[in-house]
Amino acid sequence: MGIQVVGVVGGGTMGNGIAQMAAAAGHPVILVDRSAEFLQRALDTIDKNLQRAVDKGTLTRADKAALLGRITTDETLEKQAAADFVIEAVNEDLDLKRQIFKDLDRICRPGVILATNTSSISITKIAAVTKRPEQVIGMHFMNPVPVMKLVEVIRGHATSDETWQATRELSEKWGKVPVEVHDYPGFVSNRVLMPMINEAIFALHEGVGSREAIDTVMKLGMNHPMGPLTLADFIGLDTCLAILQVLHEGFGDPKYRPCPLLRKMVDAGHLGRKSGRGFYDYERT
Ligand code: NAD
Repeated sequence: MGIQVVGVVGGGTMGNGIAQMAAAAGHPVILVDRSAEFLQRALDTIDKNLQRAVDKGTLTRADKAALLGRITTDETLEKQAAADFVIEAVNEDLDLKRQIFKDLDRICRPGVILATNTSSISITKIAAVTKRPEQVIGMHFMNPVPVMKLVEVIRGHATSDETWQATRELSEKWGKVPVEVHDYPGFVSNRVLMPMINEAIFALHEGVGSREAIDTVMKLGMNHPMGPLTLADFIGLDTCLAILQVLHEGFGDPKYRPCPLLRKMVDAGHLGRKSGRGFYDYERT
């Protein structure tokens, strides 16, 4: 039988990309978010992304319709009872994720792997609230999910070899390159990336350079495809702050303290691309 139905919890920036990727690979997808409005927004985003492919001639209208037809949406987590593999992509908040995993553990069949797309939270801590910590794993996709090749696969303290193998195989089937890492704050990706983004925000905060100057130095000088402030807007400033807090608390090292400007922007609701305003202004999508 293998893994057929893929469950996704949270249809925001990452969740809608994961749902699109799984549906593109032929899986029926059950996408759950907390309200009809969030679900509609997720479907609109997927529709828009697919339409771009149709306009470019890389996807037929019929394939687009079939792909969208494989995605079912619902506001209740109970619907994940039908899933063979679940990926959680709700906000970067330990208590919220723990509650979702407690519920998923009750709802999903024994043996179903519960993966989290967390950027930095301990897989071990999330797994500990379930009765199946061997079947809990981190599956850290990159944004935008349908495009980016990497999936950082994080083994919690109790994650079994079988769970890692099944997750590796599924990732490869989806055309991704899974990289196995262990469960320490920020894993590899954000332990390296976030201090750079935070330092760029400090540089802006201290008036070392304008936002354009900082981004241009890193783009043209270091050959990065986008500057760190643009990237922070793309990731979401609330997500960046949450990750830095996990690093700061997890290592107890002041080098990870989030820049006060980042905190202030999150307090103001300037969350980057998704809210229409961050270090740069965007049209609401
Ligand atoms: P987001 O804010 O865009 O989306 C979160 C979604 O979760 C929202 O649609 C929200 O309504 C939904 N949600 C909240 N509570 C819920 C509940 N109880 N039940 C169902 N849905 C609920 O966030 P995001 O950027 O997509 O991040 C999601 C996860 O992915 C986080 O753990 C984040 O750290 C991680 N991540 C983000 C990025 C990125 O670039 N944004 C990259 C990799 C990993």
